[in-house]
Amino acid sequence: MPVTRQSGGRVRGTPRATLDGPRYPRQMSPEAISMRHVPPFLFVLTLVGLIVPVATRADVPEPDQAFLDEAIPPLRASTQKTTGGPQNIAGAMSGVRELLVERRKVLAELGGKHKLNNLTGIATQDEYDAEVMTSLRKIVQLGAASDTTHPSSVAVQPIEGRLASLPSLGKQPIPFMVLGYSEMAIATGDSMVAQGTSAQLVDHVVLSHIAAATDLAIKEGEDFFGDSAARSLRQELVLARLRCPKDQATYKMNAMKNQIKEDGGISTLYYMQCSKCGDPRVIEFPQELASRLNRMSEQQKQAKPGTPARSQVVEP
Ligand SMILES: [Zn+2]
Repeated sequence: MPVTRQSGGRVRGTPRATLDGPRYPRQMSPEAISMRHVPPFLFVLTLVGLIVPVATRADVPEPDQAFLDEAIPPLRASTQKTTGGPQNIAGAMSGVRELLVERRKVLAELGGKHKLNNLTGIATQDEYDAEVMTSLRKIVQLGAASDTTHPSSVAVQPIEGRLASLPSLGKQPIPFMVLGYSEMAIATGDSMVAQGTSAQLVDHVVLSHIAAATDLAIKEGEDFFGDSAARSLRQELVLARLRCPKDQATYKMNAMKNQIKEDGGISTLYYMQCSKCGDPRVIEFPQELASRLNRMSEQQKQAKPGTPARSQVVEP
């Protein structure tokens, strides 16, 4: 009777895996992962640990610095101009509109250079948007300080009601969410003005909502991206926008882990897989990247001396 065996099995006494048997990494003997004794979850961890780093090199999101070096100085200059002179609520509103128009133009240029759903495009947009949000916050804060409109709660209620129907920003939005929200709030306000609501009243309410949205993104005394929950959210939002270069499909996440690199730096690794073609991909977020994106909250701190700095604790 001929010896039959199941695929993946091993015949007792066979010294090594044969061609139709399982293939193991060279340094590992088949006995080392005798599956009968390994709990299923540990086996999955072992597979991830063994296969992914060998199969796929980690990609690190890196912004296009040359693009940012061109796009950011004009943004700062126009913000300087908007916030430099005497303030009023209508001026603040037109400053916000100009800022968002400039952002759309810059993102269109960026989209011509990099796909906005690849790692470089996303990283560049996020850095640029962090700058835009810093500008936005300056403009709305100065506008609010100059706001002499003191409307009754009855007068603002219909506008508040319409803005309340916009999608929620959650507890700690990141800049591109705040900027998207601001555009929706302005569009909602415009449609109310078109229907006869006072523009001054609408500007007052819309600007206060935009100010509140930037407050959510930058909390008093709290690191913007240094906070580990905010950092995870930011990273997950990068991955959610990422598409497979082969088929433009989304990725699903299989596992994540933090690692200490040879140079002592810490990074977070996400093990992804294309939901369509199954191609594996590993994305690495070094903590230095988070620190670099912290620049905005650093600027906020400098603008507000007396805000206590949070202790620099490295999370596990
Ligand atoms: Zn794919």
